[in-house]
Amino acid sequence: MDIESKLPGVGTTVFTVMSALATEHGAVNLGQGFPDFSCDPQLQALLAEAVAAGHNQYAPMAGVAALREAVADKTARLYGRSYDAGREVTVTAGATQAIMAAVLAVVRPGDEVIVLEPTYDSYVPSILLAGGTPVYVPLDHRRGYAPDWERVRAAITPRTRLLMLNFPHNPSGYCLSAADLQALEDVVRDTGVLVLSDEVYEHIVFDGKPHQSLARSAELAARSFVVSSFGKTFHITGWKVGTCCAPAPLTTELRRVHQFMVFAVNTPAQHALARFLAEPAHYGRLPAFYQAKRDLFVAGLQRTRLRPLACPGTYFVLADYSAVSTEPEADFAQRLVREFGVAAIPIAGLYAQPFENRIVRFCFAKRDDTLRAALERLSRV
Ligand code: PMP
Ligand code: GLN
Repeated sequence: MDIESKLPGVGTTVFTVMSALATEHGAVNLGQGFPDFSCDPQLQALLAEAVAAGHNQYAPMAGVAALREAVADKTARLYGRSYDAGREVTVTAGATQAIMAAVLAVVRPGDEVIVLEPTYDSYVPSILLAGGTPVYVPLDHRRGYAPDWERVRAAITPRTRLLMLNFPHNPSGYCLSAADLQALEDVVRDTGVLVLSDEVYEHIVFDGKPHQSLARSAELAARSFVVSSFGKTFHITGWKVGTCCAPAPLTTELRRVHQFMVFAVNTPAQHALARFLAEPAHYGRLPAFYQAKRDLFVAGLQRTRLRPLACPGTYFVLADYSAVSTEPEADFAQRLVREFGVAAIPIAGLYAQPFENRIVRFCFAKRDDTLRAALERLSRV
């Protein structure tokens, strides 16, 4: 059958490809971002309790009220912004669905949407399905992948509908500073540009720094969808539960799409998460937990011929392999699996025009013994 694809440029994601290759070769999988350890037994028990208590039918379209309230409370406590749990917080099927729903809700054919490169892989397909045009602005890889706000400003035209941001940034780990938030306020002020802020790594910021959520700024929050995901925070990427906080007019539009994409999200998981989230220690200990893993892995990488870049947040670290090879990133990553038994993600493909900089991404959301096994193999590279 001759079907004209709506997404002709889209293949299988690099994360899926590298995970399959890792399995095929019995490699240590530091490619796709997911923990290889279990979630908290208390959260497991809460899920079982929710099922036993009969929370097994459709949840309310916008999400279980207790979970929306817990998210609103947390956002007020951490970022000083009070979202109305009834009208401004929505529970989604992971961040991926929140992003797709938000983009479909506000982007019309012909609209321009600014994305920063390297770009998380789901953004551009979301824009294309909405009929929008992605406009690419590179992050400054010479400054730890910091955004160049003047380049963002220069990319804004009368057709710009949405600016998509992701900080802490996957794959670079760059975290916004307070000065970045101010610069961003300045860039979008007096424009009609909406913002989608993907903050799935909000609780994985290191070295004692606070996460600079866009929710902290009244000016930015008033025009933003702020998206997060419990997958990253509670080691449950397979549960696929996320959230979107946005002012009521934006949330109304988001929900118009959301209710016909999924209608509602997994009910028992929402009940379990509402109870688990109410205890701040459950996410408060995350920075120290992952910082110890970062330090273990980065110290190990420093003893190899790979050069780790700075990692201020997320559970990914970039490594420069230019001392080892001049191969393109995808070839090097394939060889790393086949010859050395470690999977990583080439990041050149996260740019519209593949940008070869001899860098691969490692995920350190792994047990310490997994990280040590990977380092042992990487020491032979
Ligand atoms: N955005 C970013 C930046 C991510 O890294 C991920 C997942 N790794 C997602 C969105 C998707 O999150 P979820 O699994 O909750 O859909
Ligand atoms: N976001 C995860 C990563 O960056 C992967 C999620 C996926 O495979 N879609 O590795």
